[in-house]
Amino acid sequence: MAIRPSLDTNHCGRTGEGGIRTLGSLLGYGALAKRCFRPLSHLTKNSTRISQSILDFQFVICIGPTPTSSRAGNFVGVANDRLLIEMMDMISEDEARRRVLQSVDSLRERTVLLSRALDSFSARDVVARLRLPMFDNSAMDGYAVVASSSRRGARLQVIGEQPAGADRQLRISRGEAARIFTGAPIPAGADAVVMQENTTRNGDEIVVNVDVDPGEFIRRHGCDLAEGQKILVRGERIRSTTIALLASQGLTDVAIGGEVNAAIVSTGDEVVMPGTQLDRGQIYDSNSTLLQALLQRCGASVTSAEHCPDQRESLVKAIQRGIKNHVLVITGGVSVGEHDLVQSTLRSLGAKIDIWRVAIKPGKPFLFGQATGCAVFGLPGNPVSAFVTFLQFVRPAILKMMGSNNVDLRKVPAKLTVDLTNDGDRPHYVRGRIENGTFAPIGRQESHALFGLSQSNALLRIAMGDSLKAGAIVEVQTWD
Ligand code: AMP
Ligand code: MG
Repeated sequence: MAIRPSLDTNHCGRTGEGGIRTLGSLLGYGALAKRCFRPLSHLTKNSTRISQSILDFQFVICIGPTPTSSRAGNFVGVANDRLLIEMMDMISEDEARRRVLQSVDSLRERTVLLSRALDSFSARDVVARLRLPMFDNSAMDGYAVVASSSRRGARLQVIGEQPAGADRQLRISRGEAARIFTGAPIPAGADAVVMQENTTRNGDEIVVNVDVDPGEFIRRHGCDLAEGQKILVRGERIRSTTIALLASQGLTDVAIGGEVNAAIVSTGDEVVMPGTQLDRGQIYDSNSTLLQALLQRCGASVTSAEHCPDQRESLVKAIQRGIKNHVLVITGGVSVGEHDLVQSTLRSLGAKIDIWRVAIKPGKPFLFGQATGCAVFGLPGNPVSAFVTFLQFVRPAILKMMGSNNVDLRKVPAKLTVDLTNDGDRPHYVRGRIENGTFAPIGRQESHALFGLSQSNALLRIAMGDSLKAGAIVEVQTWD
């Protein structure tokens, strides 16, 4: 039996020695103990006994300690066939993400009105064509003055009024003032504005009640933004404030990445639509609405969400409809049970399956393939698995299609409130709450536990074999 070279060997102390191939850090120490290994010994990296011992065996698993792990030393054991096959089929998350991103392209750009551009991604770099502010103007309602003739107690002659909107072409000299309003152009000769509240008006005169410094309350031409300065980078998300900045340049529209159309198919004989009567053994479909919300949050346009029983003919039809979109997200039916028909049905329709099973918890049965130009994602039916795999694999693909220059989730540092160890065989995404700079796991950490998920606002990824101590600063992913 050959071991696929795609397996991760990063943490492995020895690879390829004496013709023996090693699998790297695919399994945690605890998982080794729990599962189907025949452990040989705990051996240190340098031990010559390793190479002598392992020569007797066809398969060798070599687990290296990770920097944060308290478990020392390499572990050498022999896997049975079942585990080996399972491990051979699993690819790492990084590899899965790489393959997904490699398989999808950015869609063709389009130009939309600014009012339609929120949360899309700029297709071009945009530079300022107008300086901001566009002219020297007043930051206050008050009087434009010459600072050097406006000491406290000075009396000034008011020679006219400069409102916002129309330049009255006024000019003032020492001893004079012009009534002025916020946003109005500064009259020639003036070098400061004194606030209305700091003056006393008597007919055509004012008395200045404060000392005035040159430049006071004047917003200078170009002090905020220079002509030619970059105001939007290709791939940058267009936010409300970006739209405002574009509008300030006199623009009415913007070139953005293509619109991603997505279809959802939820599968399962036990799954029924909310709003209908439940029979014993049935559950309501929560994944469809979850995925709809997640897709919308990414900026994709959901064209359909349909449910399909675990029945081949229905699945064929649903998939045929779904793959008319850029993206098809299927939930349930991607595992190994007799009722898990998604993979074989996709293959029967000529789809190319690029990924099935990823070293991620929850979400191992994740599937990715392509059918007639549509990116097809098969997410496990358990809601937390569907959620986690959506964020880790579907979201980045959609963002790339939409032309985003950043497909990663936001990462936020937080202080861990409890000790956490991952002695499972895959990286574990722990659901929790980040609040006031701390992260605490919340709810049941099982893939069916939707309530806990609904209370969470962050995910902590714990690498296989890692032990994290309460008080440690960790980086958590956030999505809302
Ligand atoms: P499956 O991936 O089809 O083996 O399903 C795994 C688990 O997820 C089962 O307990 C299903 O009942 C549950 N499940 C599947 N689809 C859905 C759905 N659309 N909404 C909520 N739970 C689901
Ligand atoms: Mg099912």
